[in-house]
Parts: sequence; C-alpha cells; structure tokens
Amino acid sequence: MSDSERTGPRLDRLSAPKGTFDTLPPESATFLAVREEITRTLRLAGYGYVETPVFEDTAVFRRGVGESTDVVTKEMYTFTDRGGRSLTLRPELTAGLVRAAIEHNLYAGQLPVKLYSVGANFRYEQPQAGRYRHFTQVDAEALGLDDPTLDAEMVALGVQAFDAVGLGDYTTELNSLGDRTCRPAYREKLRDFLRGLSLDEQTRQRVEVNPLRVLDDKRPGVAAQVAGAPLMVDHLCAGCRAHYDAVRDQLADLGVRWVENPTLVRGLDYYTRTTFEYVHNRLGAQASIGGGGRYDGLSAQLGGPDTSGIGWAIGVDRTLLALAAEGLAPKQPPRVAAFVVPLGDAARRRALPLATELRQAGVATDLAFGGKGLKGAMRSADRSGARYAVILGERDIADGVAQLKDLGSGAQHAVPLGDLVTTLKEKLS
Ligand code: AMP
Repeated sequence: MSDSERTGPRLDRLSAPKGTFDTLPPESATFLAVREEITRTLRLAGYGYVETPVFEDTAVFRRGVGESTDVVTKEMYTFTDRGGRSLTLRPELTAGLVRAAIEHNLYAGQLPVKLYSVGANFRYEQPQAGRYRHFTQVDAEALGLDDPTLDAEMVALGVQAFDAVGLGDYTTELNSLGDRTCRPAYREKLRDFLRGLSLDEQTRQRVEVNPLRVLDDKRPGVAAQVAGAPLMVDHLCAGCRAHYDAVRDQLADLGVRWVENPTLVRGLDYYTRTTFEYVHNRLGAQASIGGGGRYDGLSAQLGGPDTSGIGWAIGVDRTLLALAAEGLAPKQPPRVAAFVVPLGDAARRRALPLATELRQAGVATDLAFGGKGLKGAMRSADRSGARYAVILGERDIADGVAQLKDLGSGAQHAVPLGDLVTTLKEKLS
C-alpha cells in the first residue's frame, strides 16, 4: 500500500485566522504571569471574578457600546445562530459585565459592586503589530456609585497593576468628558467649530454623529485644524468640575503621576466625566496599553437602573509587547524541576507512579516517554529544564534506590526510593 492510499490525499496545512495568533510555551508562562499580577492587584482591592459568555445578544453591544462607534459599525463578529438569534462575539467586556450585574440584581446589594473579568475579545480590525482580531483584556468595573474616590481608586489600580508587572515607561493620561448636563451644549459648540473646517466627507459625517471622536483623529491634516477646537474641560458644569478636581486631588495624594490630555476621548460611546488611558512610550502606533472611564448612562442603556459605574480594561497582549519594548521580558521558569529516566521494562513500569508521587508532593515532574535509551532520555531531561534527573536502572530497582543526578553540576548519588520525595523537596526548597 502506498503512502497516499494509507492516508488519503494530502490536505492543505491550516493556520490560525488572519489577525489571530497562538501563545505557546515557554512564552505562554509570561502571559499567565502578567494576567495573574494584574488580577491580583484587583483582588487585593476587593474585586470579585465574573465569567460571562463569550457571545451575547447583539443588542448588548449595540446599546451598550454605542451605535456610532467603529466597534459596533465596522468591527463586530455578528452571526445568526440556528435558532435565528442575532449574537455577537464580545468586542469588549464592560457591556457584558453590566448586563450580568443587571440580570442578577447586583445593584440591590452592597455598593459599589466591584467586579473583574479576564478574557478574549473579538474585533474585525485591520491587523498590525499590537492590534489583533482576537485579543485578551483584564477588565475591572466598580458599579452603582458616583464617588470621585472610586475614580481615583480605579486610575490608581491600573498604575499599581503595571507596577506589579514591572512596567515603567508609560504615561497616564486624564480627561473629563462632562456629563448629560454640560456635554450636549459643548457638543453643539464643538460641532459649530468643526463644521467650519475643511474636512473630507467621512469626517464631516462624523462631525454630525459623534463630534468628540473627531478630536481624537490622529491624521496630521485633521489634527492641525482641530488644534484650536473648544475643549470639554473648559466647559464642564459645576458638578463635573468638582468631581474632576476631587479625582485629581486624590490621585495626587496617592502619588500617582498623570498628564492632562484634553482631547482624550476614547473609542466607546458610553464614557462620561473621568476618562483615562495608559499610553506606553515605546510602542509606536498601538501604544494604548489600557484605558477606561466613568459611564453614567450604560446601565440604563441596558435596561437597568439609571446609575453610574467606572472601569478600565488593560490589554494583556499589549502589556506583553510593552514589557518586551522595555527589555523586561521575564526569564521563563523551567517547565519542570525533576525528570524521571527509566531504563528497561521494570523501571518503565515504576516511572509514571514515581512521577505521580512527586507531583502529588508538589514537585513539577516529567518523565522520558517513547522507550528512549539512556542517551536520548538524558537529552530529554536536559531539554526539560529540570534541575534533577531521577534515573531508574534495573539494578537500582532491585536495590530499592534511584540515582539522583544534579543536572547542573553532574553530581550523582543513590537515594532509597522511599526517601526520594523528601530528599528532592529538600534540595529544591
Ligand atoms: P478598549 O476596549 O478599546 O478601551 O481598549 C482597552 C485596551 O485593550 C487597549 O488599551 C489595548 O491595550 C487593548 N486592545 C484594544 N483593542 C485591541 C486589539 N485590537 N488588539 C490588541 N489589544 C487591543
């Protein structure tokens, strides 16, 4: 029988979809470590973990994220399921978390409701370095209270999370976007100003739908014209002014450093009052490593109580890129600490139980598979990164011992099988 008769025709090799990537060991250990540091910062501040579905009713994002945003108009992965429902893969985590808080009546309990989540998001973007169609965020939300101390806590938690990860070369940008009292009048003022500029058709349409977004336009031709635009910070109502001042005072008390960016708008529609972004100084075009703000209308938009919330999302993938840009890519921890090398059939029968015993005692252990001889098995032991090889020969088994080899120094000695776990634990502690 020929090869093709045995296996059928050779099929094309498949790869991950455009704009997505795989995270493999050993680098995946850094991904997990970064995720852990960021979420630990949140747990220390009393945030509780929430898991929501990866897809939601499309209305959650249409109403939550906002009809006029790029995310909703151009970037959502929306599909009709077999039951005829319109569902969307989540492009961000906030709207789903607020939907869950409303559905489970969390607003009726202790306020603020402090929640966090971690997970994959999906946006049909033009892929480039740092901008993917599938990316991971850690998301924190404090719901149900409008207290400037919460805003200060939220901004500071992001800084503390980046500190915990080890990042240093980034800027915290801060702005206030006003609220329903002062923003409508400001929007009109801004619209009037923008209508007088020479803008392309698409940007002119944006002026009508969402003029604040035009302030965020990075194209030099637009940015230069917009430079003299009226700014929200100069048109805040008394309530928003007091709120913003209180947030800044409390951040200063905490020793958090920030710069004011009066044109910081961010891409999602729901933000009001405090808005902020963490911008890395060495990442080029996709430099935002996290950001968020207060969103006083979101809960009501999703059919919940008319109450406020504040939150942020930190991009895990971009945080990893930022670490690399700062030359901080952490050393990968070895995959295992011990590696069992069985020689001969009797030893092979003992190898997996012995490795299991070590694992149960908390020693990360692997073993040689595939009937390898001494040379091949020792090569695997070296490659595993283990500090010790536990060599089991036929003679050793008969004598009730194993040879414990220090793979760094090469020193080797026999250890009674009954003492192996304790000996290894001691050596590794
Ligand atoms: P946003 O949900 O748009 O406010 O973004 C919050 C953070 O998520 C950003 O600061 C980025 O770190 C990250 N992020 C957003 N979009 C992407 C993307 N397409 N690829 C990778 N990271 C992203």
